[in-house]
Amino acid sequence: MSDEQDDEMTALKAIFDDAFEYGRNAAHEYTGKLTVSVNVPAEASILMAGSIESDGSRAGIITRSISALPPVTLFFTLAAAYPKGAAPQIAIACVWLSAQQRAELARQMHETWTHEPDVILFHCADLLQNVFDRISVAFPLVLADDVAEMVIEHDRAQQQQRFDATRHNCGICLEDKLGAVCYALSCGHVFCRACLTEFFALHINEGNVAAVQCPDHACIKFGAKLLDSDIVALVGHALHRRYSEIVEKRALDTDPSITWCPRRTCEGSAQKDAQYEKLAICRKCGYAFCFYCRRSWHGTGQFCAVDNHQRITREYSEASDEMKRYMELKYGASTLRRIVSDAEQVQETNRWLEENTTTCPTCHCSIQKAFGCNHMTCSVCGTHFCYLCGAYLTPNSVLDHFNVQGGRCGNRLFEDLGADPEQLFLDAYQEEAAAAAAVVDGLH
Ligand SMILES: [Zn+2]
Ligand SMILES: [Zn+2]
Ligand SMILES: [Zn+2]
Ligand SMILES: [Zn+2]
Ligand SMILES: [Zn+2]
Ligand SMILES: [Zn+2]
Repeated sequence: MSDEQDDEMTALKAIFDDAFEYGRNAAHEYTGKLTVSVNVPAEASILMAGSIESDGSRAGIITRSISALPPVTLFFTLAAAYPKGAAPQIAIACVWLSAQQRAELARQMHETWTHEPDVILFHCADLLQNVFDRISVAFPLVLADDVAEMVIEHDRAQQQQRFDATRHNCGICLEDKLGAVCYALSCGHVFCRACLTEFFALHINEGNVAAVQCPDHACIKFGAKLLDSDIVALVGHALHRRYSEIVEKRALDTDPSITWCPRRTCEGSAQKDAQYEKLAICRKCGYAFCFYCRRSWHGTGQFCAVDNHQRITREYSEASDEMKRYMELKYGASTLRRIVSDAEQVQETNRWLEENTTTCPTCHCSIQKAFGCNHMTCSVCGTHFCYLCGAYLTPNSVLDHFNVQGGRCGNRLFEDLGADPEQLFLDAYQEEAAAAAAVVDGLH
């Protein structure tokens, strides 16, 4: 073994440290490997071979720029006669160089040694480091998909390493922080991860989704949008889901063909059906309901519950011109006119009923008060009650209610009737007598 070989091993170890490993084989020859990081040109890019069409076209394919490539490994074994009497045995391993390119590099190394037989491993390392100056490589590098993925992952890890080791000024807490505790948003602005998480979580919890954007002035000014992946990375999936729901809801609130599921626990969105004008089906829980009255789906044949029509009518009559146009889009102009006229009719009927009838306290049907005293008898269920206060009256002593002096309805049996009180009293008396007789009859 020559001193020259020992010196070369020692020198390489001093320079390359962990990237250089060596030992002796069974024949007591030096053998080892040197891992070399390559200088990557600024224009470097790669392309996945699997994305190329079978006819060779690359239309629509996006090449990916990279700033780092996985290292090249040089394996060597030194014969006893090396460096003067024998060339080193070398092999080159590299995932992104073709067999042809690796053979060309080995040929160049051998040629150098042949030209001037001497220690050559440092020269080999230099050659590999500047590989793009030694062989012609066209960008993008076309790589098998699995290799391309490996290269992309390596590039990402290298960038992360550089980022982690650099100090960044956080625009929120205004402190200089190491990249390892920072986060770079998709726009390129960097803040502490903790600051961003707190900032976004606060706004999402308050429902202030418009504020969930890069806090940098430039991004606020241009209204730059964040990527969902940034939000997930910072606040987690649960809060991101909440964020998306609010954003979706805000967007849908301005769409007249969208309404919200009436199930209080659901609040999913539902679109007006294309075929059935009134049908809406919740996208979240599948509940089918009426777009207009919001009851569960009642088919096209049935009328809607009136309550909601009155609400829509009231909203429409009080709406601004702009809001009226929105409502016409939402419900359809002709449907809206029908709803309004239906509701007006219903209101008129209700007003008439209110003025001319009262409601039975037992069966709740409307009873018209035509002519008579304030003692009412329900024509449907037979309940006796007071027209003025709605109190139940005992059938055989209805007049007691109107005879309580100082009571609510005392002396008011014939109030507001405009008829001859004397005659009315007689009628009432006879009515009471008849009712009492009926009760007595019932006892027989
Ligand atoms: Zn900060
Ligand atoms: Zn930004
Ligand atoms: Zn629902
Ligand atoms: Zn309905
Ligand atoms: Zn009744
Ligand atoms: Zn009364």
